[in-house]
Amino acid sequence: MIHSGYSPRDYKGSLVPPLFQTSTFVFDTAEQGGSRFAGEEDGYIYTRLGNPTVQAFEKRIAELEGAESALAFSSGMAAVSAILFSLVKTGGHVLCSQGVYGCTYGLLKLMEESFEIGHSFSPMESAREVTEAIRPNTTCIFIETPINPTMKLVDLQMVAEVAKERGIPVVVDNTFCSPYLQNPLELGCDVSLHSATKYICGHGDVIAGVAAGKADFMKKVAMSAQKDMGGVLSPFDAWLLLRGIKTLAVRMDRHCENTEKIFRYLKEHTKVKAIYYPGDSEKKDYSIAKKQMKQPGGLISFAIEGTKETALKFMNELRLIKIAVSLGDAETLVQHPATMTHSGVSPEDREKMGISDALIRLSIGLEAWEDIRDDLEQALEKA
Ligand SMILES: *Cc1c(COP(=O)(O)O)cnc(C)c1O
Repeated sequence: MIHSGYSPRDYKGSLVPPLFQTSTFVFDTAEQGGSRFAGEEDGYIYTRLGNPTVQAFEKRIAELEGAESALAFSSGMAAVSAILFSLVKTGGHVLCSQGVYGCTYGLLKLMEESFEIGHSFSPMESAREVTEAIRPNTTCIFIETPINPTMKLVDLQMVAEVAKERGIPVVVDNTFCSPYLQNPLELGCDVSLHSATKYICGHGDVIAGVAAGKADFMKKVAMSAQKDMGGVLSPFDAWLLLRGIKTLAVRMDRHCENTEKIFRYLKEHTKVKAIYYPGDSEKKDYSIAKKQMKQPGGLISFAIEGTKETALKFMNELRLIKIAVSLGDAETLVQHPATMTHSGVSPEDREKMGISDALIRLSIGLEAWEDIRDDLEQALEKA
């Protein structure tokens, strides 16, 4: 995370990868421009087609995910859309885990309405269930695990085995884990993508995405969906991400350590009706967490005893903890899925997904854990 993808030797000894804040690159001769466009000569052309700072970030992610190649995007959604449009055509079908990120859900609806690309959702709890959910026209399986905000898990190795037999690529939105906690490619999946806005950045100051996979597939994405749809990462944001990612391991360790402690505190609290956390050994998904996640991560959801109003009152009473969507930042963040991230999902579907009006999601930050606990305590008392 600190050294990979970059050598100071290539850049006049600069310890830190330099920021190439340029839109275009000058050719020595007209012929050179031609041979770069023809792919006969290596070298940069134009930042939408490649930039050294962005590539340093891509190389680092590829290394962390154990991938041959990675591509950076201007947002997590630009990564999701580029990958999905590279894998499915009109008449095709995407099989999804029971829950997906709100805007991924929106994109799937757009693909259905405008391009006649279907999708369906499956709990994916067994190989049989996955097999039965696959349709003759399924050309992509798209998984989030843990699933937001209920922290349900999908066994990636199991799905990858079923998919491999049928030659269907498996894409994992690995945002909630970061490459530090979970590596889907090592479990047999084909693409691991992230909203790099979250843990990879870690400082709440960038919107970015990244996808990692096989070199030939990523090249295809680069030459079409990325280049032509154009959702590329800016060099400055890549530079900030390179800075953020240096501390990914120490940040994740602290996020996980704090979260475990807050989980134990909340689990015993009389005003907490239900709690969702991949590290809860009483939950049936715990064995999947043990198998595929190095640690249970930095997110917890819980249902407060009471109504929607109780949940909102609790949130308004918080002082240290900030009310905001997003996750993976140094600051502990709280949000209310029913009226915020999942407000676009119908009440019936929310019910099916286990998202009650009393559900609250926390992204545990890097503060002293006692400070987080004290803030939760005083707000729970008043709610
Ligand atoms: C935030 C998020 C996204 C979208 O990423 P952006 O960077 O906001 O475009 C996709 N998937 C998950 C799981 C996310 O949390």
